[in-house]
Amino acid sequence: MKKAGAPAAARELKPAFLLASLFAGLCAAPCHAAEQPACGPDALGVSREIYIDRAKGTAVGLQTYPRTLDLHDHEVVLTFDDGPAGPTAQVLDALAKECARVTFFIIGRNAESLPALVKRAAAEGHTIAHHSYSHPDKTLRLMSEPAAKADIEKGIAAVDKALGVKAAPFFRFPGFADTPELVADLTSRGYTVFGSDLWASDWSKMTPKAELDLVLSRLEKKGKGIVLFHDSQAITAQMLPEFLRELKKRGYSLVHIKPGDTPTPIVDAAPDWTSTTEPIIAKTLGPKAKLAPEAHDHGAQEPAPKTSEP
Ligand SMILES: [Zn+2]
Repeated sequence: MKKAGAPAAARELKPAFLLASLFAGLCAAPCHAAEQPACGPDALGVSREIYIDRAKGTAVGLQTYPRTLDLHDHEVVLTFDDGPAGPTAQVLDALAKECARVTFFIIGRNAESLPALVKRAAAEGHTIAHHSYSHPDKTLRLMSEPAAKADIEKGIAAVDKALGVKAAPFFRFPGFADTPELVADLTSRGYTVFGSDLWASDWSKMTPKAELDLVLSRLEKKGKGIVLFHDSQAITAQMLPEFLRELKKRGYSLVHIKPGDTPTPIVDAAPDWTSTTEPIIAKTLGPKAKLAPEAHDHGAQEPAPKTSEP
């Protein structure tokens, strides 16, 4: 996102990419640490893959939607938004060291600026997904429907172009500020919309240690879930190695999500479910952002830290 980060990232890319390509070849697909001596038995690795039905989209993530992926206790799915950006290479290095596989929800215009990082993430086995073209400050919800759809499509095209092939049909709304119409349009075309089950609040000013403690305490409380980070945030890149070590130490397993041809394993929320993100959106964006009451069952969203949000 920040132009200043681009040249440095580009300069560092070449040797890192070569090493990474080699590493990815040694440690392909379901990357069980036990089966991958290159990663060592102590690496976090990936315990299993979950396939997201590309023929039938849905919307998951309990902070926004009343359903989520059917994870076992102590299973986590790690997701990173807003890249590629300055800290992305450091995030990729940390993930490679642990043979971890995650999903990147990429901003289209960032993919245009730093296409090599998109390619590197894919070459290292991560899932590449979409997060709009411009990440508009006003959010997609407050844009006209045609303008919001155009931004989404432009983002999809930009990420696909950087990648050289179609990215996964996964989409996350910037600031979780969706609308029922946009969600319906995406899911009808086979896109699954991802909210999150917990987040690291890495858009807030804090130290890497504070972020580590915060996200671990939230995870321990929930026991599992889809976790949201931002690879655009330097503090996340700094705390990630220790976070991955702690996951391993505390008995968590990493689940990698990929597009597939079988029904997406989902589980409904408890009957007393309420959206975490909707009150935050209402507070951040004001009354205009309020969804009609009947829409709350379908989706809505999260905190939009003004400029660099989720
Ligand atoms: Zn975002």
